Amino acid sequence: MTYRSSWMTEELDVFRDQFRRFLARDLAPHADKWRQQKLVDRSAWRALGEMGALLPSVPEAYGGLGASFAYDAAVIEDLESVVPEATTGVSVHSGIVAHYILNYGSEEQKLRWLPKMASGEFVGAIAMTEPGTGSDLQGVRTTAKKQGNNYVINGQKTFITNGQAADLIIVVARTGGPGAKGLSLIVVETAGNDGFRRGRNLDKIGLQASDTSELFFDNAVAPPENLLGGEEGSGFAQLMQQLPQERLLLAIGAVASMERAVRLTTDYTKERKAFGQPIIEFQNTAFTLAERKTEATIARVFVDWCIERLIARELDTVTASMAKWWCSQKQVETADECLQLHGGYGYMQEYPISRMFVDARIQKIYGGTNEIMKLLIARSL
Ligand SMILES: Cc1cc2nc3c(=O)[nH]c(=O)nc-3n(C[C@H](O)[C@H](O)[C@H](O)COP(=O)(O)OP(=O)(O)OC[C@H]3O[C@@H](n4cnc5c(N)ncnc54)[C@H](O)[C@@H]3O)c2cc1C
Repeated sequence: MTYRSSWMTEELDVFRDQFRRFLARDLAPHADKWRQQKLVDRSAWRALGEMGALLPSVPEAYGGLGASFAYDAAVIEDLESVVPEATTGVSVHSGIVAHYILNYGSEEQKLRWLPKMASGEFVGAIAMTEPGTGSDLQGVRTTAKKQGNNYVINGQKTFITNGQAADLIIVVARTGGPGAKGLSLIVVETAGNDGFRRGRNLDKIGLQASDTSELFFDNAVAPPENLLGGEEGSGFAQLMQQLPQERLLLAIGAVASMERAVRLTTDYTKERKAFGQPIIEFQNTAFTLAERKTEATIARVFVDWCIERLIARELDTVTASMAKWWCSQKQVETADECLQLHGGYGYMQEYPISRMFVDARIQKIYGGTNEIMKLLIARSL
């Protein structure tokens, strides 16, 4: 049985059909190079922009397609199935950064930044994490102080996705006193900003094509109109409001990855022979795949329901946290078991399952660790 997501439409079928062909033809052949250089080419961002795959749910007036979140979900699923090297960067740029600007930006800010992000001319990043604080965002130490006509920003960020490529970075900075109420979101444009410096493109165990960076702010400047939301001290509340969408995007990627792992492993085990028979005919192999397919289907049905609720603006943070932790946990288990069924070949880079295994691991950590997800769910009990 082929399961069709409840949020799919005929219009989206047409979009995805073209999009998948574009990904396989125009982007997938460059993925090895991106992994080696630890960066997705800017030409790929532009091409994704031309396809309408960046910022699809942003109104047309700001360069998007004016579509629903279903388009964001479809883009992430298709990237994860065909060119997973681009999933994380696009998800941050399109699903997170653009929506902060859309939801909290002034008309002038939206017109200034969103069309460039939709075309891929500008790449966006969000810088929350610091060397001394990740899960506990209230501990952010980067400061933004008003001096003359500017905010002057000082501090250090780390683990920032798109950090090497970014033209525009939403920086979580302290404009006031200690705790959550002192935090604001300020957009820093990187071009010609003397006090801004990119550090290392960090050496990770997986997600090789996704750049992850240290960023340094040493009297970096941003005009006061780059404050998001118009009022200092709103940063923490703004971060909390965007969490359901951010967490759901990670769950969507997890489900697509589980489905791909089961698909690839089913094909492999039908071909590979041991003891005179295809290995899928061993009951252990078939039962493992049966279990993983069941879990992938359960995850899909739950995530589809979450997508519908998000489109209806009814997805709460607790439910999104359930989707994030459970789907990422199942993604890691699925990748591990599917690798096992590949035997030694599963440990070789030339088999995608090897990369899916290492790439999956971060899903339990970023976007809020799975422990933090459980903490939020537990608080609602
Ligand atoms: C590849 C990659 C990309 C990333 N991209 C971005 C990005 O674009 N922007 C950005 O701002 N950040 C990004 N991050 C950072 C990421 O969000 C953080 O690493 C994550 O939130 C965890 O923070 P931490 O690393 O400081 O761990 P810590 O907060 O130090 O946590 C360490 C351990 O303690 C546990 N822990 C902490 N508090 C509690 C608690 N209250 N109860 C139980 N357990 C707890 C955690 O769950 C974890 O297991 C990225 C990280 C990576 C690795």
